[in-house]
Amino acid sequence: MSFENLGLRTEILTGIKFQGYTQPTPIQEQAIPIILKGGDILAGAQTGTGKTAAFTLPILHLLSTGKERGGHRPRALVLTPTRELAAQVAESVELYGKGLDIRSTVIFGGVGINPQIQKLRRGVDIVVGTPGRLLDLAGQKALDLSRIEYLILDEADRMLDMGFIHDIRKIIKLVPQKRQTLFFSATYSKDIKILSESILRNPSLVEV
Ligand code: AMP
Repeated sequence: MSFENLGLRTEILTGIKFQGYTQPTPIQEQAIPIILKGGDILAGAQTGTGKTAAFTLPILHLLSTGKERGGHRPRALVLTPTRELAAQVAESVELYGKGLDIRSTVIFGGVGINPQIQKLRRGVDIVVGTPGRLLDLAGQKALDLSRIEYLILDEADRMLDMGFIHDIRKIIKLVPQKRQTLFFSATYSKDIKILSESILRNPSLVEV
């Protein structure tokens, strides 16, 4: 299987080549076609499997070809457990989305909130962040989640371990019910089962 067969647009394929990736990893091969077709995903994947590109590449594709535009409001939201992971994911979004007209920003706590508010005000397509600060910004009306079409939970098991379940539930209430949801977790527990079943619609299972 090559990247060319996955259905991604040329600008994205060029970015992949620039990174030096010659072929998709197993999770990319399985997840990308399903995501491009609009399906929800429940993926079991550890760090190092290429899971970030597995959701970033198709989401960039969908955002860049989608007719429905959120205007200045974000259309994709990626939830991560830590600021380090948020920064890494945001970096991947920037890197893979270089040839596209897609704006992104990263949001996490422990740093000044005003620059984050300014950035959101200027308009973004993708927001990557940790649940607590995202909720703060939504509460202050600086972050409008009413136009989210794509919701991604990255390392959901770590988010639960860190006690983010209530924040996640609150965020879910703020995003539209009609959306595509991608759920990534390295482990599968009863709590993960309950959360994933309550937010996914007919998900495809992806195991690597
Ligand atoms: P991740 O599992 O998302 O943390 O990715 C692990 C590492 O694999 C990152 O450094 C990526 O740059 C790299 N990577 C992702 N996809 C590919 C690919 N198809 N071929 C080679 N390396 C990749």
